[in-house]
Amino acid sequence: MVNLIEVLHKFGDVKENISIKTLTSFRIGGLAKFVFYPNSIENLIESIKYLYENHVSYKIWGMGSNILASDYEYDGVIIKLDHMLNTIDIKGETVLVDAGVSLITLAYKTCLLGLSGFEYATGIPGSVGGALYMNAGAYKHDTYEILNKVLVLRNNELEWLNKEDIQYSYRHTSFCDHKEWIILKAEFKLTQGNVDDIQRVIEDRKQRRFQSQPLNLPSAGSVFRNPSSMYAWQVIDRIGLRGKQIGGAMFSLVHSNFIVNVDHAKAEDVYELVQLAIRLSKEELEIDLIPEVEFFNWR
Ligand SMILES: Cc1cc2nc3c(=O)[nH]c(=O)nc-3n(C[C@H](O)[C@H](O)[C@H](O)COP(=O)(O)OP(=O)(O)OC[C@H]3O[C@@H](n4cnc5c(N)ncnc54)[C@H](O)[C@@H]3O)c2cc1C
Repeated sequence: MVNLIEVLHKFGDVKENISIKTLTSFRIGGLAKFVFYPNSIENLIESIKYLYENHVSYKIWGMGSNILASDYEYDGVIIKLDHMLNTIDIKGETVLVDAGVSLITLAYKTCLLGLSGFEYATGIPGSVGGALYMNAGAYKHDTYEILNKVLVLRNNELEWLNKEDIQYSYRHTSFCDHKEWIILKAEFKLTQGNVDDIQRVIEDRKQRRFQSQPLNLPSAGSVFRNPSSMYAWQVIDRIGLRGKQIGGAMFSLVHSNFIVNVDHAKAEDVYELVQLAIRLSKEELEIDLIPEVEFFNWR
């Protein structure tokens, strides 16, 4: 591993033994051996080649707002793109944006220019890369609705994929099936609107979120995808888990499809709540609950 840190230093900044708690919105997770910030796309490509050839595991990380990391140490490299991929370029209604940019920043920036399209995103605390990975969305709108194309690193090559080349659906895309593909940039097509109208929509949704979500506690947002027959929060309520606590984790009293970290929760606490909900919803309602949150470094 001594060699590894020397090699990574050639390609960007490296930090050692970082608590994953500091990298996730859940504030949960063990130690990451290395967190790496590549300083150029070329160096990202070189570093990936090196890691692959030397059988070192790595994980691309956005803002960690959809990840439940285990309490174990991660003996690999977490790669963060936000130090180098953080620019927004707007020409007319076309927005070219780097994967490391915060979705919320992007939404407010486009709003101030009177561009409509990202109103759904002002309460989603992820990166553009993370949103494209799982097709983040809210209020019946999602990321792929306004997407033109995505710049991807795959098989060591840079390639623009048009929206038509990517499969996407509710909280799922081709990227979930190809975890080795790295999203670098995207182009979106927005619509010219009126700043005041857009701000009104954003403000209205902000109020709704503050009233309906436990934003004062660490979480990863919705834990389960909505099944076809009803909302996931209704399932959790029907099986009696609203307010259920295991260790430091609890199905929120405010929004029962959120698990909140109320008191130094362990990943295991959250995991047990998730498994309990999956079992009871199957037994009592014949519904298969599917986690929306991603499990990382689980054994
Ligand atoms: C309070 C709260 C509210 C939320 N509300 C919503 C909501 O309304 N709607 C919604 O959809 N989600 C919501 N979420 C969940 C989360 O914010 C989204 O899923 C977001 O898109 C995750 O982005 P991220 O950058 O944090 O990704 P991460 O959690 O860091 O990563 C998630 C996955 O994306 C992959 N990934 C990230 N960047 C890249 C990249 N550049 N290339 C390839 N793969 C990449 C990672 O490898 C990982 O597999 C909420 C979360 C919280 C905490």
